[in-house]
Amino acid sequence: MIPAVLPTYARTTLAFERGEGSWLWTEDGTRYLDFGAGIAVNALGHANPELVAALTEQAAKVWHVSNLYEIPAQERLAEQLVAHTFADTVFFTNSGTESCELAIKMARKYWSDEGEGRTEILTFAGAFHGRSTGAISAAGSEKLTAGFGPLLPGFTQLPWGDHEALEAAATDQIAAIVVEPVQGEGGIRPLPDACLKGLRDLCDRTGALLILDEVQCGMGRTGRLFAHEWSGITPDIMMVAKGIGGGFPLGAVLATEDAASGMTTGTHGSTYGGNPLACAVGGKVLDIVTEPAFLDRVSAASGRLRQGLEGLVASHPDIFEGVRGQGLMVGLKLRVPPADLVAAARDQHLLTVPAADNVVRLLPPLNITDEEIDAGLKALDAAANALKATV
Ligand SMILES: *Cc1c(COP(=O)(O)O)cnc(C)c1O
Repeated sequence: MIPAVLPTYARTTLAFERGEGSWLWTEDGTRYLDFGAGIAVNALGHANPELVAALTEQAAKVWHVSNLYEIPAQERLAEQLVAHTFADTVFFTNSGTESCELAIKMARKYWSDEGEGRTEILTFAGAFHGRSTGAISAAGSEKLTAGFGPLLPGFTQLPWGDHEALEAAATDQIAAIVVEPVQGEGGIRPLPDACLKGLRDLCDRTGALLILDEVQCGMGRTGRLFAHEWSGITPDIMMVAKGIGGGFPLGAVLATEDAASGMTTGTHGSTYGGNPLACAVGGKVLDIVTEPAFLDRVSAASGRLRQGLEGLVASHPDIFEGVRGQGLMVGLKLRVPPADLVAAARDQHLLTVPAADNVVRLLPPLNITDEEIDAGLKALDAAANALKATV
């Protein structure tokens, strides 16, 4: 018999009753250290008092009004994002998938209005952009698309790191290129700065719009507000979600005035997108992440974590192959199946997230403390020892 909840997820039999900072508690009082943060969502930890205050303050006033009316919290958050990024304008969504849908629509509408009708979009193997038909068509992997055809036409997936294939595909008929500056689901694969710069040059030469998917790597995760800032380039369109709501469903598409020029009144919409509750929380998340010392602390925490992980790789070469990533978006490349390490870490009361390419992701809250980092490293060491005992 089919379960009451559609069985599309491989869930572990763990349910959490409450959380605080980097910790989660099950109903029986067992404490877990959360190095998954709801898959890079709980950027400021669980039950963050400032976010709780922002949410409950708004909840006592008005929850929802629809985009038929002005929403001051939405305008404030948009102005904050415009002030801190390349963007001139912002559309709010409820998820990364919805941000992907709008990014695709925006790029095609741009070229339609230019009278050139360019529709072809280049993406990369190993990418993940969400689960709508558009987003799975963009990413294109068999794992995401099998059985869901006919797919949305107009996407070509290029091999990761193949410059010749990219040069050959990037004609002046291309509408846009979509890329994650650090692939998340694909196994924490950072795009080298030189490649991101090269993509920007290619887009400038061909006119194609550069769309960055910073749903997972954005909002301070890499030690910069957005990951592309490391390379010095700016995109034309950027997809955001996950960390921006700190756990409340919120996403956004940021764009330059030129790239957004086709999106006039009536061309797009969302009932919930930019809802007062979501934007009240998002505004507070951005206030905190853009405080001067915040991102320096992310980099310092990253340094401590990375150093500890390099030590673990050295002492368990039969379990770990290496460490990669940027900031607090870290991948442990394994010599054992990711599910085995995730389970062994869970036995040590440490939560981690598997990814493709034989990688386990470590995505702790951005405000994790040194003591918590050390506790996580200790748990991973114990997990590796336990795994060794079984092989
Ligand atoms: C999670 C993710 C998405 C999809 O976001 P949802 O909120 O699950 O729809 C898109 N792109 C990237 C890079 C992601 O990590």
